[in-house]
Amino acid sequence: MFDSLTDRLDDVFRKIRGHARLTEENVQTALREVRLALLEADVNFKVVKDFVDRVRERAMGQDVLKSLTPGQQVVKIVHDEMVELLGGEARELDLKASPAVIMVVGLQGSGKTTTCAKLALKLRRELKRKPYLVPADVYRPAAIDQLHKLASQLDIEAFPSTTDQNPVDICTAALEEAKRTGHDVVLLDTAGRLHVDEALMEELSAIKAKTGPGEILFVADAMTGQDAVTVASSFNDRLGVTGVVLTKMDGDARGGAALSVRQVTGKSIKFVGTGEKVSDLEVFHPDRVASRILG
Ligand code: GDP
Repeated sequence: MFDSLTDRLDDVFRKIRGHARLTEENVQTALREVRLALLEADVNFKVVKDFVDRVRERAMGQDVLKSLTPGQQVVKIVHDEMVELLGGEARELDLKASPAVIMVVGLQGSGKTTTCAKLALKLRRELKRKPYLVPADVYRPAAIDQLHKLASQLDIEAFPSTTDQNPVDICTAALEEAKRTGHDVVLLDTAGRLHVDEALMEELSAIKAKTGPGEILFVADAMTGQDAVTVASSFNDRLGVTGVVLTKMDGDARGGAALSVRQVTGKSIKFVGTGEKVSDLEVFHPDRVASRILG
């Protein structure tokens, strides 16, 4: 992930740092190259344009060009703007309610079930929480089984859903059960489809209305690039998501989804999936990711 973007930007920055003095033309040339590198990484066209415009506006000032280290300053401006693009400060999950409800949504195959198990493990390990896993995807028969298996592997309790139940009923009953059994976080693994469809959105809206989730996390496969961003927008418009989990960051995606989703949807990435193992989930830190991309 980001490897070819990092290589391209590294070249641009080496050139610009090599100048003892910078002219406006040097900066324009560098920004043209930054723009191309971002477009090649599959970043949304409008996001790239706004990003380059912001960097240009800050970099063209005489205090930057006349400074002792103009190249260094331009690189710093790119870094700062990239942190903003990626969402600024990392934000914690809203777990105030008891039990706190986290609704996990997204298309089929994006990694919802895996992410629910990963999150439950993280919450138990790092926040000493007592999570409850709720399989609510009754359409893909293997989904319930898959979450039950992961739950027993991790020794985390799961609601005994079956495919003949209604997903809204499952979620409401599971919430009652979680209260009764003293679980303090409930993770709802909702159904996905291959494409966004009305029936799915209605079902998810009903689950939201009945369970009052503090978090609605949209799970997206990083490998699907700009499609992931478009789907994130539809889910956000209908449900008001609170954050994004970008999975399969260990694949060779170019990085376009990661760099576009915040600007397009207004919602930040909260976690990234970095592999198939249950421990492969990391909190997303925009500043660290920007530093990694910029080398
Ligand atoms: P769901 O249909 O949205 O519930 O998706 P699943 O959780 O079943 O995941 C679909 C596939 O993606 C499974 O084979 C997972 O092991 C895989 N997967 C999920 N997250 C990641 C990740 O971060 N990295 C990799 N490499 N694979 C993942």
